Amino acid sequence: MKYLIVGGVAGGATTAARLRRLDEKSEIIIFERGEYISYANCGLPYYIGGIITERDNLFVQTPTSFGTRFNLEVRNLNEVVAINRGEKTIMVKDLRTGNTYSESYDKLVLSPGAEPVRPPLPGINQDGIFTLRNVPDTDRIKNYIIEKNPRHAVVVGAGFIGLEMAENLHLCGISVTIIEMAEQVMTPLDYSMAALVHQHLKTKNVEFYLNTAVSSFSQANGRLVVKLNSSKTIEADLVVLSIGVKPDSYLAKEADLIIGETGGIVVNEFLQTSDNNIYALGDAIEFTNPVTGTKMITYLAGPTNKQGRILADNIVKGNYKKYKGAINTAIAKVFDITVASTGVSGKMLGKLNIPHTDSIIHTSSHAGYYPGAMPMSIKISFSLDDGRLLGAQIVGYIGIDKRIDLFAQAIRQRATVYDLAEIEHAYAPPYSSAKDPVNIAGMVAENILDGITKPISWREVAENTDDNYFLLDIRTSDEFQLGSIDGAVNIPLDELRQHLDEIPRNKKIIAFCGVGLRAHVACRILMQSGFDEVYNLSGGLKTFETACQKQSNEDIFANDYIGHDDHIYQGSKEKLVKKPIETANLKVVNACGLQCPGPVLKLKNSIDEIAVGEVLRITATDAGFYKDVKAWSNVTGNELVELTQDGGEITAIIRKGEPSVQSVARQGGNNATLICFSDDLDKALAVFVIANGAVASGKRVTIFFTFWGLNVIKRQKKPAVKKDAFGKMFGMMMPKSSKKLGLSKMNMAGMGSKMMRMVMKDKKVDSLENMIQTAINNGVELIACQMSMDVMGIKAEEFIDDVQIGGVATYLEQTESANLNLFV
Ligand code: FAD
Repeated sequence: MKYLIVGGVAGGATTAARLRRLDEKSEIIIFERGEYISYANCGLPYYIGGIITERDNLFVQTPTSFGTRFNLEVRNLNEVVAINRGEKTIMVKDLRTGNTYSESYDKLVLSPGAEPVRPPLPGINQDGIFTLRNVPDTDRIKNYIIEKNPRHAVVVGAGFIGLEMAENLHLCGISVTIIEMAEQVMTPLDYSMAALVHQHLKTKNVEFYLNTAVSSFSQANGRLVVKLNSSKTIEADLVVLSIGVKPDSYLAKEADLIIGETGGIVVNEFLQTSDNNIYALGDAIEFTNPVTGTKMITYLAGPTNKQGRILADNIVKGNYKKYKGAINTAIAKVFDITVASTGVSGKMLGKLNIPHTDSIIHTSSHAGYYPGAMPMSIKISFSLDDGRLLGAQIVGYIGIDKRIDLFAQAIRQRATVYDLAEIEHAYAPPYSSAKDPVNIAGMVAENILDGITKPISWREVAENTDDNYFLLDIRTSDEFQLGSIDGAVNIPLDELRQHLDEIPRNKKIIAFCGVGLRAHVACRILMQSGFDEVYNLSGGLKTFETACQKQSNEDIFANDYIGHDDHIYQGSKEKLVKKPIETANLKVVNACGLQCPGPVLKLKNSIDEIAVGEVLRITATDAGFYKDVKAWSNVTGNELVELTQDGGEITAIIRKGEPSVQSVARQGGNNATLICFSDDLDKALAVFVIANGAVASGKRVTIFFTFWGLNVIKRQKKPAVKKDAFGKMFGMMMPKSSKKLGLSKMNMAGMGSKMMRMVMKDKKVDSLENMIQTAINNGVELIACQMSMDVMGIKAEEFIDDVQIGGVATYLEQTESANLNLFV
């Protein structure tokens, strides 16, 4: 037998190797129009970014090694230009010589792959505009980066490969702008899941435009000018087109093989084309999607490799092995997060009118008590009739791959969400929880199917304009104060049973919490208390807020300029992006686990310990630190050399600024004075949070305690002091020390302040007493108002150490050098 194979990479090489293993005697020839065969397309972006350092590592085989190992002929740089089906021959052009020749076959295999879409936009053929499909494309991009040292790249299209390219160009030190025509990146994801990716890209300083298309390319001043359909222009030095691919089915079409409406070669379940002697596989074929029943092309290496094996078996042994189709299981690394999907998204099921419902959970990669657990968001779509799983999407940091594979298997086996709830998994704390996230996704879906809970999507809530929803936030009042959905009413879960009469019975009750777990308990209470229309906001406030906030990230490089030293600067001249960092005397500071303003305070104290020009690296896990450290560096005149986020851990490298810059900040009109009039615990906390933040920013801070505010700075164990009758009376009625302060609202006879302290402890927020001590340690001046002390009969001995006694003049003197004066 004589087998000819068109295409020598994923599908072609796999098929050839299997054919040989099954049929030692046959003649096998691979035709590849490129120079290379059997290389790792999927690794190409990572070679450009420098993660794969050796170019040779991209090549799984060379034409010679492959030929020798499998005793076959590899004709690279030979392009098949025509198929004569009647004669069972192909026409081949030798690209080295330009000669054309004919070759006969018994069986022909087509694995020509897919080609990148290159729309006919004005100026698209300019220098510096690339697509990425193969090794020569990769070499061109890599060499261009080395030779031209581009500063700014535009990636057109935010699919999986577009985002991989964005990350790898970013790794090369290039500022990256992504232009995406859709309203979201990664179209296989639903919008709410893509929104998580958008927010992550923002933290990576990637600029991206959504709902925006490129209308033309031109050149100006030696740079590319990318014009958008919004009329905005972006200057760039490099453009990568990642708009999509289409099947390279031209040869098959010319040979009158049947081509489907997707543009792919039509094959049967044995991967045989409309000609019995020609088989086809890979990116060039269309096949029925087992979930939707519609024709589809799968542009993925995994299915191609599996098809190669099935197809070779069918050729050698006669058609006996059926290909069942692929469900598009895909995964990509996008900076620190991993994004994966399998089956069909909710929006695609909707478009195809396939009845289904969706549910979202936010959970952890493994047991929360074992260090290193990271957040994971899962969305599944399933049939309302029988619970069959139809699709799953995951965004998270670790353990995403194994979960998506479990979902993929469940979909392929036509399993239901009931099966998911019971799926058996290996568990030990470093790897999972006793109920794996996959089980939990199944259990939530099971509750929906069984009518135990009713989900409502973030979109339904966000788009509802009628007055028929009662938004019930069942989180604690502290959480509620930090922000909620507009119009929501707060009844904490633990108080819900006592407040049922405050909930209207003529409206749809939309219960929500942070992620949906506590809201489920609330829904159960309400449903069993006679409320009919009760819904749990799927994915809770996390999904709602992520999906409702601004998604795109435009104009972030607007203030960039190139310095005389040829580096890119962002925003201000002090901020150097590419300067090498001296690591010899690098001071390393770990602020992980501390909550705001802990990391900034630790940074301030640590920078005080190093000399001007020396560099410090601080790591923190408080999400707010990413913003705070930029502001802090700006205010204090220290230089933020680098700011990165790696899997939830934020690392900042800071070079200490000149003393003059620092001292100007402290001595000039840049200081802060606060008047603490109140002895409410929450207000006192606010005073010290601001004071500690201000002192960390290089301000000199003075707090003037007057009237009730004096109670904040009383010591706990006070010496006996002589007081008159008024003094004794006030003393009895007022809080004895900071520990006894109540809340300004919802104090509930002291319960409120106790709860507040508990929550603060849980969330690793410093207690008021610690904040006061920190302020003192950092040089904050505490001045007690003499006049108020006299009126209220409070003696100096009653105060904690380091409190000075002063009058209004002392306070006014301090305000002279302050540009921040607050009354609390
Ligand atoms: P290819 O592997 O593209 O091979 C087709 C070959 O046929 C080409 O070398 C072409 O030159 C040759 N050819 C075409 N016509 C002729 C002709 N007439 N004569 C001679 N030779 C011809 N998939 C994943 O699953 N995961 C990933 O992470 C991933 N990353 C990717 C990253 C990049 C940058 C790219 C380009 C693709 C990626 N893919 C990924 C997709 C994956 O590589 C493809 O799905 C897979 O290679 C398809 O195999 P194929 O054999 O159909 O086509």
